[in-house]
Amino acid sequence: MLRIGLGKDSHRLAAGRRFLLGGTEIPFERGEAGHSDGDVLAHAVIDALLGAAGLGDIGGFFPPGDPEWKDADSMLLLGIAWKNVKECGWKLLNLDCVVTCELPKILPYRQQIRESIAGVLDADIGSVFVKGKTAEGLDAVGRGEAVEALAICLLEKS
Ligand code: MG
Repeated sequence: MLRIGLGKDSHRLAAGRRFLLGGTEIPFERGEAGHSDGDVLAHAVIDALLGAAGLGDIGGFFPPGDPEWKDADSMLLLGIAWKNVKECGWKLLNLDCVVTCELPKILPYRQQIRESIAGVLDADIGSVFVKGKTAEGLDAVGRGEAVEALAICLLEKS
């Protein structure tokens, strides 16, 4: 059996916050606001995996506002979500992601981001891909006020 999952997330950018993508910190003047560490890509991936497995969503697993997840490491949350998906017998075939922001540039950090996500998901780096895009000056992302991530995954259970 094959199942597709889709995840999407966006976070405002704020001063005094870290800019994290898939556990990789990118040096930048602002970072993702959020109850957890704000890692927008990790959150989108969690939703894609949970959705594919029919297990719910990130808000159900890690309720926003829950003091347990205040400033939480989102890669730790990804590990917990993946453990639940795995325990249902699912294997990851591939994961593809798009991160949209005006700045910073994602490309120099792409390999590191792919490695850290693949590491948590026990996957080959070849089955995890991440693309960086800009919003061409349009909307809040285009004005540099926010960052957005999309993730799609394919799971297999035999
Ligand atoms: Mg989020």
